[in-house]
Amino acid sequence: MEKRGHLEEGTARRTGPIILLGPPGAGKGTQAKRIVEEYGVPQISTGDLLRSHVKNATALGRLASEFMGRGDLVPDELLYDIVAERLRAPDCERGFVLDGFPRTAAQAGWLDAFLQHEFFENSRSPKCLPFVIRIDVDYNELWLRLTGRRTCPLCGRIYNIHLQPPRVDELCDIDGSQLVTRNDDRDEVIRERLLAYEQQTRPVAEYYEEKGRLVSVDGSLPVDQVARQIFQAIETHAGDRC
Ligand code: AMP
Repeated sequence: MEKRGHLEEGTARRTGPIILLGPPGAGKGTQAKRIVEEYGVPQISTGDLLRSHVKNATALGRLASEFMGRGDLVPDELLYDIVAERLRAPDCERGFVLDGFPRTAAQAGWLDAFLQHEFFENSRSPKCLPFVIRIDVDYNELWLRLTGRRTCPLCGRIYNIHLQPPRVDELCDIDGSQLVTRNDDRDEVIRERLLAYEQQTRPVAEYYEEKGRLVSVDGSLPVDQVARQIFQAIETHAGDRC
């Protein structure tokens, strides 16, 4: 039987707020899903939230799609309401894993202030500020990962045609759906996204590093080994503080 993590063993543990930081293609989405399986806390991906707004053609979706289509970051103030609304949901009380947020130093400051005001005052949630796990991967490896990335539109499973191909070309192993290339995984957009990371998201790491709330893991290792490093970091630095 598939290993489902600690929830089935009746020991639902707190992780507190965990942030996965790293360049596009570092494996934040994949590793966030591992944390979900292991600890039973929700994954919150601002990229997924925004893509769902774009798909549903909401006012936010229409605004955000211009930025996303170019590989630019969406302006900070467009993100705050959707992130706040999601974090207030009851399933975030034991903790949550943020993937793709914060991406600017301003977003990091906003998140600390939001958690301090809304969560700690109501004491309905983990009594700790976010702990950050940065997944480091070199540029050439990122390039291969991003240009080869394909996603199953039905189950969300992620493949890579260079590094982790499906059993049958371009078809999902699980449900046979035709795999798709995300619109922002085109070469010219990838270049912009990597640039946005260098220029705007690196300072986020510095923000948390200065506060002693960041560890780095080697994201070039196989997925299971990266996951082990991440669980170790959570056990050592995050869960017990909350
Ligand atoms: P992702 O799937 O996390 O790579 O996000 C896809 C796109 O959504 C990014 O290239 C940005 O345009 C936008 N986006 C996602 N999260 C954020 C964020 N925290 N701040 C600004 N833009 C974001």
